[in-house]
Amino acid sequence: MIRTYPDPILRRPAKRAEPGSPETLEAIEALKRAFDPETALGLAANQVGYPIRAAIVRLGDEIKVLLNPEVVERSQELEVDSEGCLSLPGVEAEVPRPKRVVVRAQDEEGKEVRLELEGLEARLLLHEIDHLDGMLYIDHLPAAERKKLLKLYQEVRKSSPQGSSSRGQGGSRSPL
Ligand SMILES: [Zn+2]
Repeated sequence: MIRTYPDPILRRPAKRAEPGSPETLEAIEALKRAFDPETALGLAANQVGYPIRAAIVRLGDEIKVLLNPEVVERSQELEVDSEGCLSLPGVEAEVPRPKRVVVRAQDEEGKEVRLELEGLEARLLLHEIDHLDGMLYIDHLPAAERKKLLKLYQEVRKSSPQGSSSRGQGGSRSPL
């Protein structure tokens, strides 16, 4: 089950993942079970109840598990694009993010990986790393806009009591 705002687990910074540890393996299993690449681009372990620095992402045709991802370089140049999140179903907002990033992480086995990403893929990794730091994309919005978005979110939730996502009301992109 995917945790949704305001679940407090989403606000706690996740701890370092030890590759191969039982807890990390369990978190990876939970990520793989919960992740549907048809409807989302990424998921962080705290979104599925594990406060561990692990995430699953779809980059091109590849699905990758990343442990301890961190941004080592980011472009000065920003790009504004719409962003949604599985933990805030039914809403999205325009968020400025660095256009290019270099991310260092480990794969499932603990082998170091380095990713140079641009555009939506850079945004995806920044979004997932934010999750692992206890942040959400709404934190990047001006206060008034954030308040408005959260109000809309509460309304959307009330109107879909089963908690299902009300995505797809035209033009919505896969949430991150
Ligand atoms: Zn998210």
